[in-house]
Amino acid sequence: MGQFASVGKQIGFVPTMGFLHEGHISLVRESVKENEITAASIFVNPTQFAAHEDLSNYPRNEKRDLELLESVGCDVVFIPQPNEIYPPGFQTYVLAEEITKILEGEFRPSHFKGVTTVVTILLNLSRCSNSYFGRKDAQQAAVLTRMVKDLYIPCTVHVCPIVRDSDGLAMSSRNVYLSEDERGEALTLYKSLKLAEELVMKGEKETQRIRAAMTGLYEKLRDYELQYIAFTEAETFTQIDEIEGGIPFYILIACRIGKTRLIDNFLLTV
Ligand code: AMP
Repeated sequence: MGQFASVGKQIGFVPTMGFLHEGHISLVRESVKENEITAASIFVNPTQFAAHEDLSNYPRNEKRDLELLESVGCDVVFIPQPNEIYPPGFQTYVLAEEITKILEGEFRPSHFKGVTTVVTILLNLSRCSNSYFGRKDAQQAAVLTRMVKDLYIPCTVHVCPIVRDSDGLAMSSRNVYLSEDERGEALTLYKSLKLAEELVMKGEKETQRIRAAMTGLYEKLRDYELQYIAFTEAETFTQIDEIEGGIPFYILIACRIGKTRLIDNFLLTV
């Protein structure tokens, strides 16, 4: 990796949990285009995982990650140990309120507290002017955009499009957990979003009717738990019952397929 000569140079920063795929790399490419120095971090942040979640078996491949990052021009990679980020005596957390209580926050109650805290630490350490996040985690991006604004953190949050496999499945480090059959069933998330988009484009405005049509596609799956299909205003994450012209909105899904929890979304405007 290149020399980290931050003095007077504009830094772009891409935080990740590693096991990188083209989704992460698209963020790095964007940063390389827009900044003099690009830094990425690989840190599987323990405070954003609940006790029953997959912290201990989260997939890792540091060697491959470093090769990938270098190949797209990332200058610096920060791979801290948990006790460097959370040294003995650590006791300060960042908490966003309303926006973290719904959807992901409902199913993963302490998750966003871990995310906002670690991202604040990483933004402070990297001294970046620009930071890059994926719309794959749309609520996370909205929470962090809000946090940076509320706390006057001197860094612009860039939210980049979702990168998908050729058949539509949103790329995720967690896709590696899926068996071949489950990988096929996981496509239902994308298919149901496409169905919703079609209905919206045909003029359907009632989110309850769209949700019902989407839910129907899941009924033939074998082992799944559809945790939510939600419609929210894009910026505030306020839930909507009726789609209004000219206002960007998300259709968001969280669904467990087998043992793997997946999320996906479409950002639409009619
Ligand atoms: P993670 O390693 O899962 O914490 O993700 C690190 C960053 O990559 C987050 O900002 C994610 O939203 C983003 N990301 C993950 N998957 C994708 C994807 N398929 N397309 C675009 N960005 C993604």
